[in-house]
Amino acid sequence: MINRNEGGRVYVCDDCKTAIKTFVSMRAARLEGWAISRDYKRCYCPHCAPGHRHTGKYGPKIIRQEG
Ligand SMILES: [Zn+2]
Repeated sequence: MINRNEGGRVYVCDDCKTAIKTFVSMRAARLEGWAISRDYKRCYCPHCAPGHRHTGKYGPKIIRQEG
């Protein structure tokens, strides 16, 4: 899930739910390998993102995986 706070947005992985990170923008999150669904309600950390890459239902959007 993605929560807004004063410093930006807090991304909590919807898969493992233990990966939490704050990014100033969605672009910054993507650059670090996070996957974000098109409705911006779900997101997955770089470790979990590959497992959701091909799920068409919610359409997690992954720009690029570093490394
Ligand atoms: Zn995760």
